[in-house]
Amino acid sequence: MSDAVEEIKNKIDIVDIIGAHVNLKKAGSNYKGLCPFHQEKTPSFMVSPELQIYKCFGCGEAGDVFTFLEKYEGLEFREALEILAEKAGVKLERRNIGQKSKKERSIEINTLAARLYHYLLLKHSAGREALEYATKIRGLKSATLTAFEIGFAPERSGILIKQLKKKKVSETELLEAGLVYKTRYGPVERFRGRLIFPLKDHRGRTLALAGRILPQYDKPNIGKYINSPETPSYHKSEVVYGLDIAKSEIKKLNQIVIVEGELDLLTPWQIGVRNIVAIKGTAFTDSQIRLLSRFSKNWVMALDSDFAGDKAAVSAIQLALNMGISVKVARLGKYKDPDDFAKAEPEKFKKAILKAQDAWDFLFEQVFSRYDLKTGSGKAAISREVTPLLSAIDDSIVQDHYVKKIATKLEVSEEAVRQKLTNPKKEIASELVDIEKAEDVRLSLEKRLISVSLQKNPRYLLDEEVRKLFIKPFTKKLLAKLSSFLASQEFDPQAFLRSLPPELATGFTEIYLQEEEGEGGNRALDIERELAKITLRLKIMNIHEQMEALTHKMKLAEKKKDESLLIKYEEEFATLSKKRSEIEGT
Ligand code: ATP
Ligand code: MN
Repeated sequence: MSDAVEEIKNKIDIVDIIGAHVNLKKAGSNYKGLCPFHQEKTPSFMVSPELQIYKCFGCGEAGDVFTFLEKYEGLEFREALEILAEKAGVKLERRNIGQKSKKERSIEINTLAARLYHYLLLKHSAGREALEYATKIRGLKSATLTAFEIGFAPERSGILIKQLKKKKVSETELLEAGLVYKTRYGPVERFRGRLIFPLKDHRGRTLALAGRILPQYDKPNIGKYINSPETPSYHKSEVVYGLDIAKSEIKKLNQIVIVEGELDLLTPWQIGVRNIVAIKGTAFTDSQIRLLSRFSKNWVMALDSDFAGDKAAVSAIQLALNMGISVKVARLGKYKDPDDFAKAEPEKFKKAILKAQDAWDFLFEQVFSRYDLKTGSGKAAISREVTPLLSAIDDSIVQDHYVKKIATKLEVSEEAVRQKLTNPKKEIASELVDIEKAEDVRLSLEKRLISVSLQKNPRYLLDEEVRKLFIKPFTKKLLAKLSSFLASQEFDPQAFLRSLPPELATGFTEIYLQEEEGEGGNRALDIERELAKITLRLKIMNIHEQMEALTHKMKLAEKKKDESLLIKYEEEFATLSKKRSEIEGT
């Protein structure tokens, strides 16, 4: 296994692989960009072509090309290995491939089930009623049924278990794949009497199924819609319906239309709105937001008309807005959902998407529409509801815009609105950063001196005077290793990293990935100046520390009335103080 891994790493450039998903800019010998694993506005995600690793200084995510694909694409190691092997033209031997994982087996079984149900809907007499419901009542065309591999699970349990047994799928495996559950009378198929919508990932792999009950089988206490339970292949919060089919159109138009349900997607899709996905209900999760933002940052939400009253939906929109995504809201007018709207008035539906309104505007308008602006109590109620919304706006310019707008509408001063805003989260966060900074200025200065020297001239660190500047155990240990490394060869980051024990390796990659200041043509000059600056700051810091220690000793000597010692210390103190003013004068 590790042979193949090493061979792949040698043939593939991490900058190419990550660069295909993240916009990377050269920064010294590294590359930097906005971290894809957390939300940020200034880049702290670094990629090193020399070390073939990445690290985010914001959220701490770090790893190599394999871990990147695993995390970014939600793959398992083996899947990442196969993809990269193909890219690198490296042949994997069977023993490299090994056992199928539970996730892959579950995908395989769900794929077989979706295929069977699709066949039953389109080709089998058992699917006749369902086909009629799908086409006549729901208006789905046969091209749509095919494109989305829509199917039908008959009302009586049995056929799936029987047919998949022929394909060597055991009942236990069906259970694990979420398609069957246990009862006192034996295993029962989960989806019965339902239209089936395969839930696929953005690469088109069937992770799970969803089913809508046919009207003739509907009963008061069974869900109109059900999904597969969580399985090795299905994590509800991570899946977005239709993304596999919509993604190319989304990239082309650089826009995503987001709806709630399967049919709210399919009907617009049939009238030509093809950059559309469904989140299946209003509980829009963090991972869904991140997944979608990778495809486009221009969203139009066409949620069911009652969503404004839905706290989960509103806070998801706020989250997306604060991630720098442009979110608009399409008005459905008198219609309950996009399915009804697109079916009744296709052209008007398309227009509603074009005319979608800025989401903050929409959210504020919703509040205003609920109360009477003319009364004092109405104003008070609006103010109460608007304040948390305003406070939720991270971008101060955008926040300011709405403060003005709302003050005008409420006929109060901007100050009155602004006074109510709180943002305790931010204040605490920046305080913590300050404390941390103060505590570890020395360590970060020492690390920075190493980082800059490595870019400029690693041998600078071997200089006796420079070595004396380092006090922290970690940097001292690292320097000792460096000096023995440089005794026999030139500096080579990869070889050096390999020579380090694990407890130093992580710290070293971090230092090596640190970005040096100064960009563009005069980089070399900047590094030199930076080097001088850090050295100077460290020197001054050292002298300060020595002077402090001396002061303490002098106090003790005074107590003991040890005159000669006191004179000695005073002389030392004077020397240090002279040294300091010399340095500070330079
Ligand atoms: P239909 O148009 O088929 O009659 P609807 O428009 O009434 O359904 P809603 O109940 O509003 O559908 O649900 C919207 C979407 O949310 C559904 O299409 C489905 O994807 C998802 N959904 C709703 N309830 C559930 C549930 N209990 N389990 C899984 N998904 C659900
Ligand atoms: Mn509907």
